[in-house]
Amino acid sequence: MPFDSHCHFEPGDDIPALLSRARAAGLSGLLAVGGSPEADAGARAAAAAAPGFAFAAFGLEPGMAADIADPRDLDARMAALEAALLGADSPDGRAPPRPIAAAIGEIGLDYSRGEDAAARARQRALFAAQLRLAARLGLPCSIHSRGAAEDTVAVLRENLSPDLVRDARAGSLHCFVGPADFAAALVPLGLSFGLSGIVTFRSADALRALVPALPRDRLLVETDSPYLAPVPLRGHPCEPAFVVHTARRVAALLGLPEPDAFALFSENARRIFVPPSPSKSIPPPRP
Ligand SMILES: [Zn+2]
Repeated sequence: MPFDSHCHFEPGDDIPALLSRARAAGLSGLLAVGGSPEADAGARAAAAAAPGFAFAAFGLEPGMAADIADPRDLDARMAALEAALLGADSPDGRAPPRPIAAAIGEIGLDYSRGEDAAARARQRALFAAQLRLAARLGLPCSIHSRGAAEDTVAVLRENLSPDLVRDARAGSLHCFVGPADFAAALVPLGLSFGLSGIVTFRSADALRALVPALPRDRLLVETDSPYLAPVPLRGHPCEPAFVVHTARRVAALLGLPEPDAFALFSENARRIFVPPSPSKSIPPPRP
């Protein structure tokens, strides 16, 4: 029963059908990840449709930094994000006693499109502000890092909550593809490794060689649906049910029986994203 630790839902998706196929595939749960107001709405709708099975992450992904040039804009965005995480933006305006979201995400750095120095600095400021908010609220993060490993580690080091680091609940480096020195820097920061369908791709020999060396209590599987469908389903729109194929491949790399590996991935995800406090309920989206 693997747990999909990073997937996306769009408001136009047939969310009940995606969730019921995920349950039918034997998933123990999933983290529905946002990253923009639109993506957050999809995550919220999925979590509202399946309490105790689908959990939500809200945040501002690195591309959103492009229109946050002024520090006052950043403060306003952080206040709006905090209200959404706490449920204080619900129709009755009353915040529940603890966050309605399970995590902040996806957030991070993406230097893969030729971002100049100013754009990179805006991304770092947005990432750092959200890590500080996560520390204040005690929430883990789902982190995106592309072409920016060194800066990702530097911003994490400065802004992660020491408590979450100590408890290895800082979150996941989603779609982790290596290399080994990036992994070595992330372990002492309390981060876990989200292995996506990429681990099944023919071209991923280096990643497959690295997986057995990662700490077992830090291994997660994910789809990043609707992207990155795993072998043998490449070319199809990806969905959370497909995480089973990725989990099987990782189990084989670890030399573990599938039920043991699936239970490991699920326990790791729940330790990070589903704290054992009274179950959270998330109100349905506003009409
Ligand atoms: Zn994603």
